[in-house]
Amino acid sequence: MEHQQIIFSNDIKEAIGTSLKAFDYNKVVILTDVNTQQLALPKVADVPVIAQSPCITIKSGDTNKNIEAAIAVWKQLETIGATRRTVIINIGGGVVTDLGGFAASVFKRGLRFINVPTTLLGAVDASIGGKTGINFNGLKNEIGVFNEADAVIISTIFFDTLPATEKLSGYAEMLKHGLLSDRQYLAALLNHDIINGDHNQLLELLRQSVIIKRDIVAADPHEQGLRRALNLGHTVGHAFESLAMKRCEHVPHGYAVAWGLVAELVLSHIAYKFPTETLHAVAQFVKENYGTFHIGCDDYKEILALMHHDKKSQSGEINCSLLADVGDLRLGSTCSDDDVAAALDIYRDLLQ
Ligand code: NAD
Repeated sequence: MEHQQIIFSNDIKEAIGTSLKAFDYNKVVILTDVNTQQLALPKVADVPVIAQSPCITIKSGDTNKNIEAAIAVWKQLETIGATRRTVIINIGGGVVTDLGGFAASVFKRGLRFINVPTTLLGAVDASIGGKTGINFNGLKNEIGVFNEADAVIISTIFFDTLPATEKLSGYAEMLKHGLLSDRQYLAALLNHDIINGDHNQLLELLRQSVIIKRDIVAADPHEQGLRRALNLGHTVGHAFESLAMKRCEHVPHGYAVAWGLVAELVLSHIAYKFPTETLHAVAQFVKENYGTFHIGCDDYKEILALMHHDKKSQSGEINCSLLADVGDLRLGSTCSDDDVAAALDIYRDLLQ
């Protein structure tokens, strides 16, 4: 599979110009949400093609990543007179790039689209890899297609206005990429100041993270094998998120992934002797930056039930992607209930 065009640059004017040069297009349409229209669009307002193109704006938030918003986008594309030679530029977080990518992929059987992610999670995860879609009938990402953006422009100039929780949420996915790749990159991530760190340093870290995800996706575009490595931290993370929901607590997805990473590194240690020093270094970083998701022994039954219910788990066994060491993957590992309970005990010792 060919790699999609990914441009890493804080010279956004040139980056948009370069990416559009590759297309024969007759019109550009911008898609934003209400927040990125106010906060991100002004940062690209001096790019002539942006200033001259019509902009469609959707409501913000995952609850608005729905069929009504997609229909509204298609109707506006009709009004604007979009044709198959029209290019859509999605400027926003994962909601805009997921919905915009889906809307573009099926309108007139497919318009080309460029993603300009404005959240860290968008840059490192949602805007790359070709998963587009909307929520439907109460289910996340129920309707969608695999279709990679024709170009992705990664720039840290948008992150000044991002709340700290959003920065931390995206950074958890970068930590996961570090764990899936190499010690040197993981060490750089653990030494970086997420909230006050330098833009160019973050852009460099992002470059490495995106390349790690891109290479995994290229090897397994439809999630039949290696791509499952990207679930590291998510089996326990999703169980924590669901438990929080039952308790009527809100935990950002990325925080649940960070706590899930710690729990799954403990499981990796139990199953494959994942090195203790690395586990402790990651746990320390997570505790300092993300705090703790509090659980007690009384919660174990519920957490186990949620993990058994996870779509990756089959025939009564809990299935996780684990590691024997940084970059040494053990896909499709099965974990017993006793191992998970032991891991949760150690998770509590490390983080609580
Ligand atoms: P989001 O798009 O909802 O953005 C979070 C919030 O930040 C929103 O309110 C948004 O308006 C605001 N925002 C965006 N850019 C901003 C900026 N520069 N400054 C200030 N505020 C800004 O959410 P997200 O966290 O970017 O992404 C989550 C979505 O991505 C979910 O729908 C999830 O399902 C999806 N996702 C998709 C993939 C994939 O592979 N396609 C991967 C991970 C997540």
